[in-house]
Amino acid sequence: MKVRCAIEDSADFVIVGTGAGGATAARVLAGAGHEVVMVEEGDFLKTSQRPRDAAGAMMTSLRDGGFQATVGHAPMPLLQGKCVGGSTAVNSGIVWRMPDSVRREWIARFGLEELVGEAQLESAYEMIERELEVAETQETIRGGNSDLMEAGARALGLESKPTVRNARRCAGRGECMQGCPGEARQSMDVSYVPMALAHGARLHTGVRVQRVEVRRGSASTVVGQHRKGGGRVRIHARGGVIICAGALHTPLILRRTGLKRLVGDRFQAHPGAAVVGRFPHPVRMAFGATQGYEVPLPARGFKLESLSLPPGLIAARIPGAGSEWSERIGALDHFAQWAVMCRMRAHGTVRPGFRALGFRALGFRALGFRALGASPRVRYAPSASDLGIVRDGITLACRMMFAAGATEVYPGVAGVPEVLTDPRDCDRLERHPIGQRDLHLLASHLFGTACAGSEPSRSVVSPSLETHAVRGLYVMDASVFPTNLGTNPQHSIMAVVFAAAQRLAARGNRRAA
Ligand SMILES: Cc1cc2nc3c(=O)[nH]c(=O)nc-3n(C[C@H](O)[C@H](O)[C@H](O)COP(=O)(O)OP(=O)(O)OC[C@H]3O[C@@H](n4cnc5c(N)ncnc54)[C@H](O)[C@@H]3O)c2cc1C
Ligand code: SF4
Repeated sequence: MKVRCAIEDSADFVIVGTGAGGATAARVLAGAGHEVVMVEEGDFLKTSQRPRDAAGAMMTSLRDGGFQATVGHAPMPLLQGKCVGGSTAVNSGIVWRMPDSVRREWIARFGLEELVGEAQLESAYEMIERELEVAETQETIRGGNSDLMEAGARALGLESKPTVRNARRCAGRGECMQGCPGEARQSMDVSYVPMALAHGARLHTGVRVQRVEVRRGSASTVVGQHRKGGGRVRIHARGGVIICAGALHTPLILRRTGLKRLVGDRFQAHPGAAVVGRFPHPVRMAFGATQGYEVPLPARGFKLESLSLPPGLIAARIPGAGSEWSERIGALDHFAQWAVMCRMRAHGTVRPGFRALGFRALGFRALGFRALGASPRVRYAPSASDLGIVRDGITLACRMMFAAGATEVYPGVAGVPEVLTDPRDCDRLERHPIGQRDLHLLASHLFGTACAGSEPSRSVVSPSLETHAVRGLYVMDASVFPTNLGTNPQHSIMAVVFAAAQRLAARGNRRAA
């Protein structure tokens, strides 16, 4: 008996995932006149319908409600968006162009001149920066948390600057993760996805893609399942299938399609730790840009960023018990928080698993799809030198907090006092032998699981982002990055995909002519 499909569709290009990579590919290919279908596992959450509280926002728009984590004795949470817009729908909008040293390394080590040629990336950056309203965060709306970071950096003679973000109209409402209330931040759900739809693209939401059918060596049909009701979904691609499910889920789809060699290897991360400081005056973290200021220190392997969070999440970082804790909670408005983002060199692996360890650790059952291979099993452990960079960054952030006037600083490192009250306490932190279990790390910048390269024996996709193994099967997301960038990645992902999709669009046009 023939099983009826819940959705059966076809297009020139079928794009899986609508985050930084997928939405950009859709915007370029649909804009060039191709018929495009986007398939997204999450829902299209209209900004007005998104919960304004942090817990509600995490449950509705983050994968596994934010509880996805690496496996091992020191699990590290891995944050990813699961909705239209992907991780851009929950991010802070920080924009950084790929460092030129990274671009040159990719050409020299991985033969990626075609992918990251200077002229084409420049033109992609310019277009994206115009279309996504990229601008420096204005002093009037950056808020007390950012102002203190500037004061601390100046006091220590460090170079610092306001963040550049895709949010020129930002009103400093500090709710980026919940979806910008005034839609000032140009995440993909309010920019490139609507732009692709305006060019005639179609979007199927709530569809979990499982694999791609291959016919005579070419990608032919995307096969998935509707999340609600479980109906079968089949979408035929005439010109190509483009997988953009992010660095953790793209390798699972490729593996289920039959690609195995190197798929899920070379997983890399740019994780962060956070330092909290208490000030004698109100900081008012709830007002101002979520991330308005930064201290980039590439030579030391890290950058510091102001990071404002809703009061409920900051309360979780306040040390003490009983009356001591109550007194601190009474002054919740007096806290500042800065993230320490570290360029780690360690490599890990992503393989099919049942569910994320975070759920098991908390005694929950997985909430979503639990079939074999549905969730990634991520093994990752920072190296000793990576941990040294984290310690260096945390120590500097603590010194800057004191230099800006903090009366107490909470470094969040096991084995050193929970509460530092004197800048000299930082000397002890600087010498402390640090292990992964001593830290609270969290990663949302993830790469490398379908790495690009000109040499088929050392890479999964070619410099045009087509897989070496299957014709017409492309990967256009953070998975293709062969190394960690050391900076916020969304702009580089979009620019690399923009340029690659333009070349694909031109090839498609030539075929059609
Ligand atoms: C909280 C947070 C803050 C961040 N802040 C910044 C920042 O300020 N600046 C910056 O540069 N970067 C930031 N990032 C990182 C940046 O957003 C990501 O690196 C980038 O969005 C990754 O793009 P991507 O296309 O690889 O994946 P994503 O944007 O994650 O998109 C992947 C999409 O694929 C969908 N998908 C996955 N599996 C399937 C499947 N089987 N079937 C169908 N669909 C599927 C997902 O639901 C998702 O929509 C942040 C990330 C997070 C989580
Ligand atoms: S800080 Fe607020 S207003 Fe500014 S971009 Fe983020 S959510 Fe929008």
